[in-house]
Amino acid sequence: MSNQVVEIFEDKCIECGLCVQACPANALTLEGGPVQVNADKCAANGECVEVCPTEALALDNEEDADDKVTEAKIKEELPTELQDYKGVWVFIEQVRNEVAPVSWELLGEGRRLAEDLGVELTGVVLGFDARDIAYEAISYGADKVYLIDDPVVKNYRTQPYTQAFIQLVEKYKPEIILLGATTVGRDLAGAVATKLETGLTADCTVLEVDHATRHLQQTRPAFGGNIMATILCKKHRPQMATVRPRVMEMPKRDNNRKGKIIEENIEFDESKIKTKVLKIIEEAKKAAYLDKADIIVAGGRGLGEEKNFKLIEDLVNILGGTVGASRAAVDAGWISVEHQVGQTGVTVRPKLYIAVGISGAIQHLVGMERSDTIVAINNDPEAPIFDVATYGVVGDLFKVLPALTEEFRKALG
Ligand SMILES: Cc1cc2nc3c(=O)[nH]c(=O)nc-3n(C[C@H](O)[C@H](O)[C@H](O)COP(=O)(O)OP(=O)(O)OC[C@H]3O[C@@H](n4cnc5c(N)ncnc54)[C@H](O)[C@@H]3O)c2cc1C
Repeated sequence: MSNQVVEIFEDKCIECGLCVQACPANALTLEGGPVQVNADKCAANGECVEVCPTEALALDNEEDADDKVTEAKIKEELPTELQDYKGVWVFIEQVRNEVAPVSWELLGEGRRLAEDLGVELTGVVLGFDARDIAYEAISYGADKVYLIDDPVVKNYRTQPYTQAFIQLVEKYKPEIILLGATTVGRDLAGAVATKLETGLTADCTVLEVDHATRHLQQTRPAFGGNIMATILCKKHRPQMATVRPRVMEMPKRDNNRKGKIIEENIEFDESKIKTKVLKIIEEAKKAAYLDKADIIVAGGRGLGEEKNFKLIEDLVNILGGTVGASRAAVDAGWISVEHQVGQTGVTVRPKLYIAVGISGAIQHLVGMERSDTIVAINNDPEAPIFDVATYGVVGDLFKVLPALTEEFRKALG
């Protein structure tokens, strides 16, 4: 223990008394003059320095003071049993041993957060014959992988996945867990967070950490995308977030990276698991790959009627892309919901996004604005889609689109 006491600059003291209230050791007094410190009581933990509006108090070593304030803050906020939770985890989601790309995107993001916090990045792989996935996770940035290789977790089921995840969390105590906002990730995150009685923010689009408090700042669009909400989980651990696919950058794969694979065994009791996987039915192919497409041509209400989606398909066929749509087009019944891009649809990040007859409502933009190149075709020069467009054509889509398709046909044969 140091016997350092807080230093007082009497000329700066305005005798407001905030420091006296803040001091947990009752070491400060105000008796008709500038604040005085009782050296026997002062623990120099910096709360007084933090609240003083005129910088009349200081600790010798400011960094030390900051650390102490932070430590004191964390201790105040977090129950003792949660204070040693450390490290960032990413759930590596697989379906038939094929990994959801969002898991790799999250390893890229997790790497950044882990480095900011000075902790390890860990992948969590649940599956059967899944060791290769664990190696792959290391190539994408994990320092360590917890692997549960068991036929019971071959296919996703809420119960055994939740049981395994919770057992790992209780044993290894991570401070942050990231999952993809996929059907599986959303289901698992909700179940795990509820059982652990911790906080979960769904559908995040931005993640940052606050160095001092180690809080994960989880930002997500709220109220139909009209505001961005930043959410903290101050009093519980782990801090859990799901993140939409294609929002974070895909990290580079490095097959020379080294890491540790730690195999864990979980005692599953199949007779207590209420669901069985009888059959897996493939989704309609085209739509299922919307979030993986490199080229998307999307149509909106400007197309006027269902049959005009043929104009979109013509261009898609020439470019080798996928058909997207606005919610207005889906709601009108012109195309199925799997094609919907946006907040309540799919988030996409293609190399090329061509928006045809789409106004660019915020709920649509949040699903496609990170595309590398955006081309907008719209007859209204004021349409907000032009705010995010790399190239814009103001004109009647019924003239522009066939002309564009024709030019591509000539160029690409
Ligand atoms: C909670 C919530 C969630 C939502 N989620 C989504 C979502 O996930 N995805 C989504 O897309 N929307 C979503 N919406 C709806 C969104 O607010 C918009 O209503 C929708 O995106 C509008 O679709 P649109 O651009 O096709 O139609 P409109 O806004 O009607 O735009 C049609 C555009 O076509 C242009 N146009 C018309 N005729 C021509 C022509 N001949 N040539 C060229 N241009 C022409 C017009 O100038 C206009 O800009 C959501 C809304 C809410 C409230």
